[in-house]
Amino acid sequence: MYDYIMIRYGDLILKGKNQHIFRHNINNQIAHKMYGLPVEIEFQHDLVFIKLNDVEPKDVIDRLNYISGLSSYSKAVKCEYNLDIIAEKSIELLKHEIKEETTFKVETKRADKTINLKSFEISKLVSKQVLRSVPNLIVDVKDPKTTLNIEARREATYIYTDKIPGIGGFPTSTGGRAMLLISGGIDSPVAGYLTMNTGLEIECVHFESSPLTPIESVQKVIDLVTVLSKYAPSSKIKLHLVPFREIHELILKEIPESYTITIMRRMMYRIADSLAKKNNCKAIVSGDSIGQVASQTLESLITVQKVTDSLVIRPLATYDKNEIIKIAKKIKTYLISSKPFSDCCTVYVPKRPVIKPTDERASTFEQAFDYQKFIKIALKNTITLEINERKPLNIIDKGFSMEEIFDEKTRNGKTDS
Ligand code: ATP
Ligand code: MG
Repeated sequence: MYDYIMIRYGDLILKGKNQHIFRHNINNQIAHKMYGLPVEIEFQHDLVFIKLNDVEPKDVIDRLNYISGLSSYSKAVKCEYNLDIIAEKSIELLKHEIKEETTFKVETKRADKTINLKSFEISKLVSKQVLRSVPNLIVDVKDPKTTLNIEARREATYIYTDKIPGIGGFPTSTGGRAMLLISGGIDSPVAGYLTMNTGLEIECVHFESSPLTPIESVQKVIDLVTVLSKYAPSSKIKLHLVPFREIHELILKEIPESYTITIMRRMMYRIADSLAKKNNCKAIVSGDSIGQVASQTLESLITVQKVTDSLVIRPLATYDKNEIIKIAKKIKTYLISSKPFSDCCTVYVPKRPVIKPTDERASTFEQAFDYQKFIKIALKNTITLEINERKPLNIIDKGFSMEEIFDEKTRNGKTDS
């Protein structure tokens, strides 16, 4: 039935000084995401058309749903500007779409101003023919369930009835890069998605305590980053795996129980700060949501943040858990996050974590061991992987320790030091 997918950019992309950069980026992404499909892409000033060449519209739309900055799409039929042909195509389309009684109107947009009829006149003439041939249509110009849209452009006329919302936001990679602290939980992948949706590129850092925690919890993070990589313009995201067991064990041994989570977080932020600066990331992103648990009270967040001068972004700060879960389901990270393997923050959770920690007390406790030395070692042994949606990585059954699993080759030729 359909020849084309018609794609609309978000409003802001067509305005302002940076519009050509935005458009250039987003057009590249559209081309990249269509990789392997025999479609043709036609870029125009205000719209993008994908000529389907018999590819199922759903296959194209599924891929467009990973591109930030697209406002909506329509499955369209193309024809020349000729009222009889437009009416004939419209009848065909509506007979295909409409199975039961529905309210209806025709709406015309005339981008080609050389056309001698006004928009409403075109609508009226087509409507007349359509109503004669298609059953089940009741005219309602105020609030119709079905709108037949006719878009008369210079090069051709397009007809469509649907308007499928895109994921909105800004094209990724227009705003710089940020370092996402990713755990295996529900929140941090959602924070990563929202960050990319505002136009930032991300790298991810995960603190892993294997074999104190199961290697499956690292696999979970790899799987989560693989899902997130679908939203990246290049379909790739760097994942830094920081060996955290030594620091983790020292904290459990040396720090009063109520402060273990606070100090664990401070160590994470010190390391993340260093990785962020080394990798040219201008901010750190976390999945914190205020008040969710003891480690996310304002006092806790302040005490943790004290150890870094990087900008810390918390996209979920004000979200409630249900809203977060809704997004996690939409972006398909929820089922992965719901797998039961614990990471370093969920093994040995203190019975009574401090609700109002202070920087002074945390600093005093931290003097119990030479953490700078252990941070250096952790940084030196950090493994950096390039996660690519097109090359899923499976580490389960490959070994029990990270050194065993990641030889020089699978590490993408480099460790971070
Ligand atoms: P999530 O669902 O993302 O795990 P959470 O509600 O379980 O979040 P916490 O475990 O308190 O919250 O973690 C708060 C934030 O700290 C996480 O969202 C993440 O950004 C960061 N974080 C926690 N554990 C790790 C880890 N092992 N590696 C990297 N970042 C982590
Ligand atoms: Mg967690």
